[in-house]
Amino acid sequence: CGIFGVFGHQDAARLTYYGLYALQHRGQESAGIAVSDGENVTEKRGMGLVPDVFQERDLNRLKGHVACGHVRYSTTGSSVLANVQPFIIHFAGHTVCLGHNGNLVNAAELKRRLEREGSIFQTTMDSEVVMHLLTRNIHMGFEDGLVDSLKQLQGAFGFLFMTEDTLVAARDPHGLRPLCIGVLEGGGYVVASETCALDLIDATYLRQVEPGEVVFINKKGLRSVKPFPQKPTRQCIFEFVYFARPDSVVYDQTVYEVRKRQGAQLAKEYPHLKGDLVMPFPDSGNYAALGFAAASNLPFEMGMIRNHYVGRTFIQPTQDMRSFGVRVKLNPVRELIKGKKVIIVEDSIIRGTTTVGRVKNIRDAGATEVHMVVSCPPHRFPCHYGIDFSTKGELIASKHSVDEIATLLGLDSLNYLSLEGLLESSRTDHGGFCTACFDGKYPVPVGENQGKFCLE
Ligand code: SF4
Repeated sequence: CGIFGVFGHQDAARLTYYGLYALQHRGQESAGIAVSDGENVTEKRGMGLVPDVFQERDLNRLKGHVACGHVRYSTTGSSVLANVQPFIIHFAGHTVCLGHNGNLVNAAELKRRLEREGSIFQTTMDSEVVMHLLTRNIHMGFEDGLVDSLKQLQGAFGFLFMTEDTLVAARDPHGLRPLCIGVLEGGGYVVASETCALDLIDATYLRQVEPGEVVFINKKGLRSVKPFPQKPTRQCIFEFVYFARPDSVVYDQTVYEVRKRQGAQLAKEYPHLKGDLVMPFPDSGNYAALGFAAASNLPFEMGMIRNHYVGRTFIQPTQDMRSFGVRVKLNPVRELIKGKKVIIVEDSIIRGTTTVGRVKNIRDAGATEVHMVVSCPPHRFPCHYGIDFSTKGELIASKHSVDEIATLLGLDSLNYLSLEGLLESSRTDHGGFCTACFDGKYPVPVGENQGKFCLE
């Protein structure tokens, strides 16, 4: 998911609309904006892409200087209207809105406890448990009640909360999901999942929300607390490989540069792999392919052309929609490929369903050999922290060896970046990474009852 919030701009909803537009790659199922003028909260939420949900008249109606926005793709809870965020509650004369990026691993347990104690849930989202915890804590006051609620959560979160007069950004103690703060020209603050959302509205990147940090922003300014026991930093490394936009700065590294380094590292690890041309499956493999081609001194070509009017396949919710995406999305340039030994640089292979069709297209276009290098290690373990591969059965590399995958995908050879190589090319001063989907070392222990529909 993508979250975007504003404090201190008279047209906060419009800035949030632009911010969500820039974060659209993080979720395409639904979008929502809640805005406050200091006293009243208004909102618009709907299914679909940002430009489908919001019209000019909505932005004119959403008046206020504080805003909380969200684009969703579901990792817990179905893709239905009731689950569209920001999630909004009214209680004790107040309104609280919530946007969540990530996944709580103890949501089922907390939900059971809360229901036993009388809470009635409106959605099947893990994020809703936070709101119930908060309403129970309100005798402590909003800030202390919120912090106490956050302390009960386990898992991954980048949270954005909004009340009538305050915006709150919170990041889990391991820093699993990214979150950053920007400053607006003329004052005011912006909070966003990625910095590409700041660029669009001329906000200046200030810094990351640090792992375990809760930042309160109101008319007195910005105030930070670090209420959680300190944990080792474990930021999601897959943001660098696939999820974040290449023009973003994530964990203080430009994603574009990191992806090029991953490609160069691949060339270093497989120096004997030779072909006539290097190409990506656009757009996700583009930057690693540039790095690979430069480091291996081979020509880089755009051997497949993308139809830009089709959404990203991996992120869509149902199997049927995914295969539809493969057929219409990429088309090979026959003259480039015919009679050539082709090296494809891909960012990741999750289920393999999209890759099979694409490799076949390259062969059908006349390639004599098709090799593939992948800019991360094989995905052998599910992600329980907010990326949509939450069961092992979905992952081709959890059931098959690399050689078997090569055969299944119709490749002459298949080579993955080593974990050491991935870490080396993702260097950052900001501590360690989560690599659980590659090595099974989960920084937050995961119980049995997980998965997308565990709360339904
Ligand atoms: Fe990211 Fe993988 Fe960790 Fe999930 S398991 S947070 S995708 S590194």
